[in-house]
Amino acid sequence: MTTLADPEPGGRPGDLRQAPARTADLAARGVHGIVLAYVDTAGIARVKTIPTARLEAAVAWGVGMSPVFDTFLADDSFVTTDVLGSPDGDLRLYPDLDHLVPLAGQPGWAWAPVDRITQEGDRHPGCARTFLRRTVADAAERHGLAFRAAVEIEWAVGLDSAPAGEFVPAVSGPAYGAIRQVELSDYTAELLATLGAQGVDVDQLHPEYAPGQFEVSVGALDPVAAADRSVLVRQTIRAVARRHRLRVSFAPAYLPEGVGNGGHLHLSCWRDGVNLHAGGAGRYGMTAEAESFVAGVLAHLPGLTAVTAPSPASYLRLQPSQWAGVFTAWGRETREAAVRIVTGTAGRRDQDANMEVKPVDLAANPYLALGCVIAAGLDGSTTGRPLPREITGDPARYGPEEAAALGVRRLPRSLPQAVEEFRADRVLRAALGPVLADAVIAVRLGDAAAAEGLRPAQLAAAYRWAY
Ligand code: GLU
Ligand code: MG
Repeated sequence: MTTLADPEPGGRPGDLRQAPARTADLAARGVHGIVLAYVDTAGIARVKTIPTARLEAAVAWGVGMSPVFDTFLADDSFVTTDVLGSPDGDLRLYPDLDHLVPLAGQPGWAWAPVDRITQEGDRHPGCARTFLRRTVADAAERHGLAFRAAVEIEWAVGLDSAPAGEFVPAVSGPAYGAIRQVELSDYTAELLATLGAQGVDVDQLHPEYAPGQFEVSVGALDPVAAADRSVLVRQTIRAVARRHRLRVSFAPAYLPEGVGNGGHLHLSCWRDGVNLHAGGAGRYGMTAEAESFVAGVLAHLPGLTAVTAPSPASYLRLQPSQWAGVFTAWGRETREAAVRIVTGTAGRRDQDANMEVKPVDLAANPYLALGCVIAAGLDGSTTGRPLPREITGDPARYGPEEAAALGVRRLPRSLPQAVEEFRADRVLRAALGPVLADAVIAVRLGDAAAAEGLRPAQLAAAYRWAY
């Protein structure tokens, strides 16, 4: 369960009580150090580490880290907003013991996501994890809603021995091909064992479409835990790859053309333990509330793109007819619509039915992405927004007039376009609050400026190993 109480100087009561026993247990398991992890606005996972003996102090008083990372860019330069990006100041990182995991993939280490608070004990308005936790808590208090979420992870496996900066696929063989499964048999078997040992329930692992590409899907959890899990799973995929002399890329476009790496979000709304996406009177068993929630996500997708596709390289991936879902449309099991309705198999629908949001990649901060998608959906469900008609097949086939008549819009084609849509979206900006919303705008514009003028091959190369 996600800890709802914010940490404060002196720690979270629940965590403080657990800390001595957890420390002893970790030491007994040979854990020497703890990775304290969060994701910045640009989507880069940043860490500090502490020796295991310091865990109790970290839980009680946090660990210092500069707030400057809130406005860091993907290339480690930084921009400023009126309140962020100063070289001054300090924040405290508070590990969340409910989500601390000994790392089977990095023996000697454990991993914990952190919340960031000020030295005075206030919530840091730039903390993405706190934003998501507050969004979920607010939905529970005000609407009686809970959510289950999962982040799909696609990645490309390259040879560590490739010339500097280049991507050379570590496997040959066709998409979904048995050849790839055999060629990376040892790596993927160790990966499954490692994820299992870390408490990650894997649904599937398969060779994907693009060169050297694989995908793993994992079980759904509450949104904060799902975002934590997506960060942990990527850390593990990378750690296991290193031992096999492999190098992994989670970049949206690790090659300049063709299909890229997605990070599709799966999300369902629940009330009193009942899935609102199944057993209802609406389309494909959705309740009226779930239909409106989906309609809300669809309506806000243009602005959401600035959060879910945050890299200049995201727009190499976000092309029609590459399964990235670049049109504001929904349908059952549609792969080219931005929102795919997943009903699940008859007999399992009350558990499995959900919506999948496709124009999301793994440069996205998963806490910001899930929180903003939930805020968009709640805007739809609380206003009773009608869900437009279903679109099946590839919306790329429509001419401009037909698309306009059907309400099908192409999502932004570049990061600056996405920022314009985001600026115009009051619901998303209000949900994030001014500090985070300004950070999103400043960081996106900074990243866009850094990438200006790059040709596709240079753009793919610039961000290939960044995320
Ligand atoms: N790789 C595709 C993407 O960039 C997704 C492929 C699929 O449908 O799983 O989103
Ligand atoms: Mg896939």
